Amino acid sequence: MNSSLSLGKIMGIPVWLHWSFLVVVLYVAWAFATFSAPIFGRTYGFAGVEPTGIRWGFSLGFALLLFVCVGLHELGHSYVARKSGIAIKSITLYFFGGVAAMEEIPRNPGLELRMAFAGPAVSGVIGLVCVVLANIASVPDDRNPFAIILWTLGVMNLILMAFNLLPAFPMDGGRLLRAWFATRMPYITATRTAASVGKMFAILMLVVGLFSFNFLLLFVAFFVYMGASEEEKATAINISLEGILVKDIMSPQVQTVTGQMTLHELKELMFQQKHRGYPVMDGEKLVGIVTIADLQNVPDEERSKTSVEQVMTRKLYVIAPKEEAAMAMKMMNEIGIRRLPVIDEGRLAGIVSREDLVRAIELSTGRGF
Ligand SMILES: [Zn+2]
Repeated sequence: MNSSLSLGKIMGIPVWLHWSFLVVVLYVAWAFATFSAPIFGRTYGFAGVEPTGIRWGFSLGFALLLFVCVGLHELGHSYVARKSGIAIKSITLYFFGGVAAMEEIPRNPGLELRMAFAGPAVSGVIGLVCVVLANIASVPDDRNPFAIILWTLGVMNLILMAFNLLPAFPMDGGRLLRAWFATRMPYITATRTAASVGKMFAILMLVVGLFSFNFLLLFVAFFVYMGASEEEKATAINISLEGILVKDIMSPQVQTVTGQMTLHELKELMFQQKHRGYPVMDGEKLVGIVTIADLQNVPDEERSKTSVEQVMTRKLYVIAPKEEAAMAMKMMNEIGIRRLPVIDEGRLAGIVSREDLVRAIELSTGRGF
């Protein structure tokens, strides 16, 4: 959490500000202080405001308010999630928007629909309120800075709403579309269909972006394409592992080593048994894990003098046999490891590796990834 600044708790949810956010607040303040154009006959942007101090003050105030609005959009999602009993661990505001870290969302299309809709709804309401207030503030003079800040904020919130409603992952619109499909077809088919719509959309944006030399659009197209592929893959993996428990796929016969074994002996063992990692035991107790990478870090000539104990990883991540296989997958991905010891009532019951998971996915879907 070093890269983020705590803003305290809102609705009981810790809110963090990523440093990239501050850079973009300044960029937005600069962009709007040097730009002005009429939109629907009203002044948008602060370039025409005099004197300079007022112009920059309002532009900075606008940039800060805009990001408060981004935060409110995110809180909109979180509010609906929390009301339905989903725990929100935190919200972090990045330069491109907010990210709410929440526990696994149950596969419930109705809830997903409401959750995805809540964010754009918040942006839409703020947008409309600002537009109405701007109309009031612009009497008698449309160029007064209060009218400009309200109008600019209103337009930006409506753009935020529209952008998030694009029917493509990872935008809210993609989730809305998937939830809507999911009320009519199996979840995996719904995800695939929504992902194809997103990809078609991305290709369309790519073509338009190329012909109009709009690089921002090209960037968004790429972002949307990647988002669609990733969502499709993650859902397929979760669904194919559904109902499979760690104990169904783990290897129960575990070869273990002791901490006193030398790395030279360990290398011989790895050659013979073709395993890439071993749990390290002290009697009945698991004390660490040693992998081929730990071995490779020590030069050949040192290996007969170095013990497993000296190089093993002591920080242990373990899983219980009754946990879902999808959970093991999630842990391995998040921590960046390839195998997890399986501990049953304090005793080592087996080991589950990424290969075991891939095999389970292949067997249940009839195809690999
Ligand atoms: Zn959103």
